[in-house]
Amino acid sequence: MSLPPLVEPAAELTIDEVRRYSRHLIIPDVGMAGQKRLKNAKVLCVGAGGLGSPALMYLAAAGVGTLGIVEFDTVDESNLQRQIIHGQSDIGRPKAESARDSVREINPYVNVIVHNEALSNDNVLEIFAQYDLIVDGTDNFATRYMVNDAAVFLKKPYVWGSIYRFDGQASVFWAEHGPCYRCLYPEPPPPGMVPSCAEGGVLGVLCASIGSIQVNEAIKLLAGIGEPLLGRLMVYDALEMTYRSVRIRKDPNCAVCGENPTVTELIDYEDFCGGISDEASAATLGSTITAPELKEWIDSGKAIHLVDVREPAEWEIVRIPGAVLVPKGEILNGSALADLPQDKQIVLYCKAGTRSAEALAAVKAAGFKDAVHVQGGVSSWVKTVDPSLPSY
Ligand SMILES: [Zn+2]
Repeated sequence: MSLPPLVEPAAELTIDEVRRYSRHLIIPDVGMAGQKRLKNAKVLCVGAGGLGSPALMYLAAAGVGTLGIVEFDTVDESNLQRQIIHGQSDIGRPKAESARDSVREINPYVNVIVHNEALSNDNVLEIFAQYDLIVDGTDNFATRYMVNDAAVFLKKPYVWGSIYRFDGQASVFWAEHGPCYRCLYPEPPPPGMVPSCAEGGVLGVLCASIGSIQVNEAIKLLAGIGEPLLGRLMVYDALEMTYRSVRIRKDPNCAVCGENPTVTELIDYEDFCGGISDEASAATLGSTITAPELKEWIDSGKAIHLVDVREPAEWEIVRIPGAVLVPKGEILNGSALADLPQDKQIVLYCKAGTRSAEALAAVKAAGFKDAVHVQGGVSSWVKTVDPSLPSY
């Protein structure tokens, strides 16, 4: 099913633009009309991270006339392995501004609009309304559902992508003509079940593989060419080097785009997606210490047993002195519980405090009532106690 072009053509291309886009102009399916449509297009990229980096760079190079960037984060050294729109000298700068400068360097004819703020219920509709098409490069479920619902309410198409380790997925969601994200994934995964890229890692180049699919689909929708990736999920396996296309259908019972929608306005997405499970949340009540408090406990010689519940690869990067490594899985399946000492207070930590909260629930349920976990995990330790250690 091909769709009509999303955008009307601009009045004309300048001589400089004709020279710049000549390799597009001589493709019959694009041609002068297609390039003028790209010039007239307004595309918003949500996030200037792993997916947003290649997406913004190719959208800019392709001649999309107006590019919006919504991103609140700053550039960190650990971003540079995959977020190629940023460079060494950008570390510490707002990503939105760093991305804007790169876009201008690639193509000065692009009008860049920077939204240096976190996308939220307060601004998502107003920001989305200014654009023809959205490219979603977010990395968390709460924002993903918010992007979807806002796009459905505004009747706008968006190109979605997701990445994890060696696996990527991409699709076009547009409730006016096909399924939305909730038709495919009605519910977010249970808290703690799906690790983020920050916890599980991602092959840097995977971002380009999926980000380029997103740009490819954006160009097709804007110019009205080809078969859009609408109603299809592209599943990419970089280790096997396979692309599979899976058909997805509009769900008549979809909560937001179905026949009797139950979600008719923006909801509390953090609550909908949950940070940690109810059990973990209950376990941490009154059983949470900060990294500086842990430092005091260690310095005072308190009898504690410090357990790092992350994975061995993370342990290799950085650890808190005196800790032992017991990956979360061995605690949750019970195999490591017998080895925990009865005569010392158990202190658990992970990278950011989510996995240790899940482990804490299991440890307390096993009878270690005075066990605690460290809020913010080793990341907080590096930030507040020992900045000489590496963060990741
Ligand atoms: Zn739907």
